[in-house]
Amino acid sequence: MVNNSGHFGIGTMPVASHNSYDHPPSPPNCAGCGYRISDRFYYHMGDGQWHAHCLKCYRCDARLDQAMSCYFRDGHIYCKDDYFR
Ligand SMILES: [Zn+2]
Ligand SMILES: [Zn+2]
Repeated sequence: MVNNSGHFGIGTMPVASHNSYDHPPSPPNCAGCGYRISDRFYYHMGDGQWHAHCLKCYRCDARLDQAMSCYFRDGHIYCKDDYFR
């Protein structure tokens, strides 16, 4: 049972990074900063995984891990306003 209180945008899901399944032998690298993700939770967005703190709008730099919605286009993450601009 997942405690799903908020609405999250297209394709975004917090994921537990430790061994709930065993195909990734090592932690993934963050698509934002390129460093390995050793955090317990990270985000799936587009083709990659992201640190919570790397989930920022490409345009205005707003943090999106708490925004409850974010949007992905052409390899970059946008807040709602900038995505629909
Ligand atoms: Zn990162
Ligand atoms: Zn923005």
